[in-house]
Amino acid sequence: MPKFLTKHVITILIVILAIAGFSALLASPFDKTEEVSLSKLVEEINNGSVTQIRVEGNNLKIILEDETKQLSRKEAESSLTESLVNYGVNPEKLGAVNMELKREGGMAYWAGAILPFMLPFLIIGLFLWFMLRSAQRGTSQAFTFAKAKAKLFGPQGKKQDVTFKDVANAVEAKSELLEIVEFLKRPKKFLDMGATIPRGVLLMGAPGTGKTLLARAVSGEAEVPFFSISGSEFVEMFVGVGAARVRDLFETAKKSAPAIIFIDEIDAVGRLRGAGLGGGNDEREQTLNQILSEMDGFERQTNVIVIAATNRPDVLDPALLRPGRFDRRVVIDEPDIKAREEILKIHAKDKPLVKNADLHVVAQRTPGFSGADLASVMNEAAILAAGNNQKTITQNDILISIEKVLLGPERRSHVYSKREKEIAAYHEAGHALVVHSLPHTDPVHKISIISRGKAAGYTLKLPLEDKHFRTKTEFVEELAVMLGGYAAEKGVFNELTTGASSDLQKASDLARKMVMQYGMSDKLGPVTFGDREELVFLGKELGEQKNYSEGTAQEIDKEVSKFIASALKTAQKIIKERKEKLQQIAEVLVKKETIDKKEFEELMAT
Ligand code: ADP
Ligand code: MG
Ligand code: ZN
Repeated sequence: MPKFLTKHVITILIVILAIAGFSALLASPFDKTEEVSLSKLVEEINNGSVTQIRVEGNNLKIILEDETKQLSRKEAESSLTESLVNYGVNPEKLGAVNMELKREGGMAYWAGAILPFMLPFLIIGLFLWFMLRSAQRGTSQAFTFAKAKAKLFGPQGKKQDVTFKDVANAVEAKSELLEIVEFLKRPKKFLDMGATIPRGVLLMGAPGTGKTLLARAVSGEAEVPFFSISGSEFVEMFVGVGAARVRDLFETAKKSAPAIIFIDEIDAVGRLRGAGLGGGNDEREQTLNQILSEMDGFERQTNVIVIAATNRPDVLDPALLRPGRFDRRVVIDEPDIKAREEILKIHAKDKPLVKNADLHVVAQRTPGFSGADLASVMNEAAILAAGNNQKTITQNDILISIEKVLLGPERRSHVYSKREKEIAAYHEAGHALVVHSLPHTDPVHKISIISRGKAAGYTLKLPLEDKHFRTKTEFVEELAVMLGGYAAEKGVFNELTTGASSDLQKASDLARKMVMQYGMSDKLGPVTFGDREELVFLGKELGEQKNYSEGTAQEIDKEVSKFIASALKTAQKIIKERKEKLQQIAEVLVKKETIDKKEFEELMAT
């Protein structure tokens, strides 16, 4: 049952209960007194024990000599005296009884008489009324589904307590957004100068870099209400509902201007129109058009600023980026080492950290982590410390949490047979040995055969510093590392297991990217192949747009195979040449299950 119906049914039930309770209340005085038949009454009159009879309609209220009260009913079609005579009353005795005639009527009487008949009609009427009222809101809005679930923070609603202070680093983004805050706070200054208030700001950045956080901080700084909605919410709706929601959202926001409308994940609705196949594309298009026309409809002085966030700016419809729409763009970079330290500091603020904890080291160990990842590292560390009943969070707790965030929790319960353990050990030793033997790889940080997340074992290598771009040499060596596990299994056991399959998949993907996107194939040269948008958006199988011939496709496949084959050769050569080392690492792994950086370096030095 839809939510609104449930709600109404509950209302109706309450009404029924209230009516029932009310009539029970009316009836209650009657319950307490004894009810007697007319013949009994006549008997009592003849005895002379009745002092008074009060007639209220057909009800008779009898008071006896000893003050007890009784009730009775006369026959409706005849008068009381007539009835009593029929029952053989003694007229003399009747004359002695004080007869009191009360006019029919009174609220209680009518309610008592009519309510039982009216109740069903009342219930049906109420139900119809609720239904009609809902339906009147318009079919286009499909009951209440279309009401944008915009959340109201800010001064009017829940106080928006995030400010720029809570966002570490992102200096450029903040300074750009500071201007937006100014517009919201002192629009007059800009309007007097003849400027138009900007309508849209697009925040671009990888997932978890703090886009949502920044948008909220703008509202917190400007102290204006914050209406937020997510693009992905539109996608799951019926056709037309999304557009109605947008209309609703903008209306509400305009009423409480100055305000911020935040559209999260706008790429979900703002994808290149006409791209893609079916699947709610119409809905997206309608929603997008509605957003655009609402933004176009702003008056010059409308003080509502739309902030949108996306991690896929490349797939956005150009119409969104036109002047007067999202013409301000703010790029949020992944945090570098300094930024990471600052983010860690923010998330350490309300946590009891040991005094000598060094967040700089943590920042060093977390290249490639987003703000969200770092927040989750600190949180995991706190959970770990609390679980161990510690008073403070130690450096070690944080370091353990880094791995947990990177690889998922350890699954120590996963039990290997002896042979499986051996194979896993040689597999990981293969990766590690290849890493150690090649000059352009990141150093081994940890090797383990404790299964973790989805991986059965892992060889973790971490870069020493942040990297902004990668070289072909690095990729070629990376491929060899990926195939190191496979090469070790094959070299030692002359057998292959399914354990290497995800390595092989990763290697093929990387090799294909090198050929098709990075132009790293000598033979095909600096050309990119395939429509990248389609590649990511719909998945290859569905809609890769081939902008190359069948012949080229074969060339690409050949080049990809060549990269893989040469990487495998490299890996196999290393494993053959340093077989004792491989064995040494594997044996330690079987015994200890994990080898950390220091142990590994000592092992390799001997
Ligand atoms: P996005 O919207 O870009 O995916 P969010 O804004 O939802 O990312 O960020 C997720 C969480 O990560 C935030 O709630 C915050 O705890 C943390 N975070 C991200 N970036 C920062 C930052 N620069 N400073 C502090 N915390 C951050
Ligand atoms: Mg977000
Ligand atoms: Zn592997």
